[in-house]
Amino acid sequence: MQTLIRNDWSLQEVQELYKKPLFELLIRASKTHREFHDPVEMQICTLISVKTGGCPEDCKYCAQSSRYTTSIKPEPMMTSEEVKAKGQAAIEQGATRVCLGAAWKKVRDGAAFDSILHMVSELAAMGVEVCCTLGSLNASQAQKLEAAGLYAYNHNIDTSRAYYPQVITTRTFDERLQTLEIVRKTQISVCCGGILGLGESEEDRISFLHTLCTQPSHPESVPINQLHPVPGTPYSENKPLDFWEVLRTIAAARILMPQAMLRLSAGRIKLSWEQQALCFLAGANSLWFGEKLLTVDNPSVSRDEEMFRLFGLKKRPAYARKNP
Ligand code: SF4
Repeated sequence: MQTLIRNDWSLQEVQELYKKPLFELLIRASKTHREFHDPVEMQICTLISVKTGGCPEDCKYCAQSSRYTTSIKPEPMMTSEEVKAKGQAAIEQGATRVCLGAAWKKVRDGAAFDSILHMVSELAAMGVEVCCTLGSLNASQAQKLEAAGLYAYNHNIDTSRAYYPQVITTRTFDERLQTLEIVRKTQISVCCGGILGLGESEEDRISFLHTLCTQPSHPESVPINQLHPVPGTPYSENKPLDFWEVLRTIAAARILMPQAMLRLSAGRIKLSWEQQALCFLAGANSLWFGEKLLTVDNPSVSRDEEMFRLFGLKKRPAYARKNP
């Protein structure tokens, strides 16, 4: 019997799932994963920070916020030639998804946005899934991105509704959900996830998953990040989250949102290959290549290539869905 895609999960159901004995949780997640995805396929993504630093928002984990003194200095926007060259290099390494990030509160119409539209159409013409993360946007901007060939728009909810005000005060949780709603009205798919290790409780992680899996439609892509404490930010001294909590979050996300691409994102550098193998078994099926993920460290491509060989992983082509 095929697993049903549900978005009417109750908080209690999510809670019971998250707290299941570990092997029961892992086996169920792994079975769901096999049903909806090729378990040896892994999508390689690359993140190009087209406009780094100087962000007016106050996300307490972020090196790019202008409110904190970190080693990140505001940089001018990259040119579309630079972006194209980076995209090409990533494609040669096997990336089939390219994400363009700008440290903006919101998209503003004008030359910078026009230039992003141009970058999107150039990259889309190269045959990759193009994603953008540019902050909030309005309906007409979403339509322009759609017309340019954008495949996905990333806007993370970060954490639970209850914990969110402890992390960010300059943009509300509901504003984030509204941006996702605007994206859903186009053909652009939604990429939405969060960050673990912000000091949230287990109940917050459960509620974060519950918000994601009860969206009108599940995000096509769910990045699961682990905090990388950045000196100068309010979370610079946060203790790393226990790995088993990361694993439980991934496994529960796989069961709750069977079709989503689960992206093992920032913080992967802290995980051993054994730990990453468990995350892949639990349903994570995408990772980022490149030594930097925006401003934080990531494993080197050669180490990742070695891991792919050892695990017998294949690189997933663009636009591939087993059960669309
Ligand atoms: S996470 Fe994004 S919105 Fe928040 S401060 Fe960093 S760049 Fe700005």
